[in-house]
Amino acid sequence: MKIAVFPGSFDPITKGHVDLIERAHPLFDKIYVAIGENSVKSSLFSLEQRLTWLKDVFRDNPKIEVGQFTGLTVNYCREVNARYLLRGLRNASDFDYEKTISQLNNIIGKDLETVFLISRPEYSHFSSTIVREIIKGKGDYKPFLPANIEINYSENN
Ligand code: ADP
Repeated sequence: MKIAVFPGSFDPITKGHVDLIERAHPLFDKIYVAIGENSVKSSLFSLEQRLTWLKDVFRDNPKIEVGQFTGLTVNYCREVNARYLLRGLRNASDFDYEKTISQLNNIIGKDLETVFLISRPEYSHFSSTIVREIIKGKGDYKPFLPANIEINYSENN
């Protein structure tokens, strides 16, 4: 059984994340899309909101499990029996960052291997950070987010 964890903040999930998960789909028997609660990073959207969106986006896909964790990603991987981590690479700065994390995870996670997929060109400029700025400015976020995500500007900020 090939089990992978795709960890992230998903604040919010973008079409770039969805594309990556769809492309990784044939490689694994199960993929845990898991929100890592980061003690340093504060998020724009609550954990509950982000989990609801993830569940909504992947609700018709039995291979995808939505989860959450605090602390080290390697501990979560052990908990769910995952031997693989899934990560996306958009550019050279993603590579520099991911390379170090992957090497560390390989040591502390014993035989945990990170599988990288290069983002599709049409999504390589998508990031949750940019989308958060668009949302804060009440701009049109629709091109970047999965179709079932609605943000109500009269309620948010
Ligand atoms: P983190 O807070 O760990 O950076 P993110 O939610 O921003 O979490 O990203 C999770 C993973 O998704 C990372 O591996 C990131 O490189 C990848 N990713 C984010 N946006 C894209 C995209 N547009 N195309 C491909 N991969 C992406």
